[in-house]
Amino acid sequence: MGRITLDKVTKKFGDVEVIPPLDLTINDGEFVVFVGPSGCGKSTLLRLIAGLEDVTAGEIRIDGKPATDLPPAKRGLAMVFQSYALYPHMSVRKNIAFPMKMAGMPEDEQKRRIDNAARALNLTDYLDRRPGQLSGGQRQRVAIGRAIVREPAAFLFDEPLSNLDAALRVGMRMEISELHKKLDTTMIYVTHDQVEAMTMADKIVVLRAGNIEQVGSPLELYRSPRNTFVAGFIGSPK
Ligand code: ADP
Ligand code: MG
Repeated sequence: MGRITLDKVTKKFGDVEVIPPLDLTINDGEFVVFVGPSGCGKSTLLRLIAGLEDVTAGEIRIDGKPATDLPPAKRGLAMVFQSYALYPHMSVRKNIAFPMKMAGMPEDEQKRRIDNAARALNLTDYLDRRPGQLSGGQRQRVAIGRAIVREPAAFLFDEPLSNLDAALRVGMRMEISELHKKLDTTMIYVTHDQVEAMTMADKIVVLRAGNIEQVGSPLELYRSPRNTFVAGFIGSPK
């Protein structure tokens, strides 16, 4: 589970077409990175997939089922927000439990899922702490834990590491890649950081002004960039 297809998905804000008709297939279990300069439409595209924005035209299918008109909660996807979206007054356990509690899930099932997520993220010893008592990396893991317990068909990340310092960012990149291997679930990861794209992705989608310039593995993009934009973008890390 976790195959997502976009068929001529289009987004306009007023008269401005931010995403021209766009086709894309994301396969089950793939780690897909949307990369491109600031303002090119990465977040908008992710939010369209999540259902946080309505498409202007086109169709989204998730595991073969039409999802274009489904509200976010019915899509079976989980958006991972930056760690500052945690509730400071709640323990780690309660932060992770929050979406399940809202959904009215039985307590024993909540507990099972929290234990699984804590194990996958090495948070077992931190469940009774509050976010303020954790490091930046641990807080980011709690934010991911809150997504894992929903057992989504896909995880959606929007620049999740952008407010961590450089050293921590490298560590978290590896942790997210490791988690992808453990969970074997589709992940879509948005970043403007070429290094992140090249080191994490199975498949990179290079965006420019809402258009897909090229889709391919890091090696394909590196060896055979389709145009000077892709070559310059992939070839010149900041
Ligand atoms: P990125 O995430 O790649 O930096 P965004 O998807 O946030 O880019 O934005 C793409 C374009 O859409 C930008 O020009 C931005 O100003 C515009 N945009 C994004 N959200 C809105 C909105 N809610 N209303 C109007 N314009 C928007
Ligand atoms: Mg963005």
